Amino acid sequence: MSELTALTIAAARDGLKQKKFSAAELADAHLAAMEKARALNAYVLETPERAAAMAKASDARIAKGDAGPLEGVPLAIKDMFCTEGVRTTACSHILDNFVPPYESTVSAHLWRDGAVLLGKTNNDEFAMGSSNETSFMGNVTSPWRRQGANTPLVPGGSSGGSAAAVAARLCLGATGTDTGGSIRQPAAFTGIVGLKPTYGRCSRWGIVAFASSLDQAGPFARTVRDTAIMMRSMAGHDPKDTTSIDIPVPDYEAAVGQSIKGKKIGIPKEYRVDGMPAEIEQLWEQGRKWLKAAGAELVEVSLPHTKYALPAYYIVAPAEASSNLARYDGVRYGERVAGRDIASMYENTRAGGFGKEVRRRIMIGTYVLSAGYYDAYYLRAQKVRTLIKKDFEDCFGQGIDAMLTPATPSAAFGIGEKGGADPIEMYLNDVFTVTVNMAGLPGISVPAGLDGQGLPLGLQLIGRPFDEETLFSLGQVIEDAAGHYTPEKWWA
Ligand code: GLN
Repeated sequence: MSELTALTIAAARDGLKQKKFSAAELADAHLAAMEKARALNAYVLETPERAAAMAKASDARIAKGDAGPLEGVPLAIKDMFCTEGVRTTACSHILDNFVPPYESTVSAHLWRDGAVLLGKTNNDEFAMGSSNETSFMGNVTSPWRRQGANTPLVPGGSSGGSAAAVAARLCLGATGTDTGGSIRQPAAFTGIVGLKPTYGRCSRWGIVAFASSLDQAGPFARTVRDTAIMMRSMAGHDPKDTTSIDIPVPDYEAAVGQSIKGKKIGIPKEYRVDGMPAEIEQLWEQGRKWLKAAGAELVEVSLPHTKYALPAYYIVAPAEASSNLARYDGVRYGERVAGRDIASMYENTRAGGFGKEVRRRIMIGTYVLSAGYYDAYYLRAQKVRTLIKKDFEDCFGQGIDAMLTPATPSAAFGIGEKGGADPIEMYLNDVFTVTVNMAGLPGISVPAGLDGQGLPLGLQLIGRPFDEETLFSLGQVIEDAAGHYTPEKWWA
């Protein structure tokens, strides 16, 4: 029944309703595919028993005519989301064997609507990374390979497991979190769609916190329509998250296929960065042509503070991380390493429990927040952040509906190829995506082509606050023109 794993969420939903197959069969087909794809290391925990129980309950509801909007749809959940009674580690040694007694609001919404949990997916430790190589559970191998080569490639990060699982057909959709690009960059690297919603659109409650003012949950799927379907379930007000916004959740799927005639699309000139590969420039040009052919108006715009976004992000994000990660002290969660007194127990636990990249972020964060440096770094970065946000507001104020940019400055790279000697080389992956988190805006990455080596590339659309609908309409135009990209199966 392997063809069941090739369905879209929309097709699975319809097939289940028409009783062409059961939710149990759909879950089984995925569990079998997952078993054969363990070499990818996309899942850090498979939950076959829970999947079977949830699918059975879905079949019962379908039989009664009581199906929810995602009834019987098998999904994967990034290991940053707490799942009640199911181990959640943020792929850190410090959270070893932590089993949350509560469910994140976003995942609870998915289960409320009938979705089925297949398992938890791998990510960079505490979502810090762009390649999934910082995970304590080992790296994820992308289902994609360069033409004629078998060099193992990264799936991107930090949501690398979710992206690889969706691309390799080990689930129909998955959740991710995006603090600086962790949904959009892996989506681009694996040839799938990934959306980072407006800050406040999805509840952060029950998601392991990295940088609270930047973190947002969002969906991954193989089509724009499928991300829209997932998004409708994931979004919504939550009184348990004070930054969650209380406005109605639109029917996002209705925006898919809507005309984009007359939409004004900004092309920010600052995204033409030095040393950008010609293929990325061509992809961007192609995207502009597609949108224009569909009736959009293209306008060159300026976002003058773009070049400060990455440096400012690497002050704000570590600052918030150092504060958020103070709670891992060996007392309340997971791993504890004994010491001669309480202070040495904290030190031993934190030194042994956190990986190198996480320790680097905590140290940078502590430094920029320290009394002598707060004004020079943290406060300064916050001011820069305000200017970045204002750049976007100025464009939207002039009638721009959305922006089109490349999603990443390159295609996927080989495991171990980047960031070894210089972490900045890795940080540069997010040069086109971090601005969106700094400004709190929605952004979507849509597959738009393959590079000369046969690897997927994505285009990013950036929208006005809470206007995910326009992104879905524009994204569908790109998808219709660019088509779909599926990796050659080499792992089973
Ligand atoms: N790559 C960025 C970082 O390492 C963003 C990660 C994310 O969005 N979670 O911080």
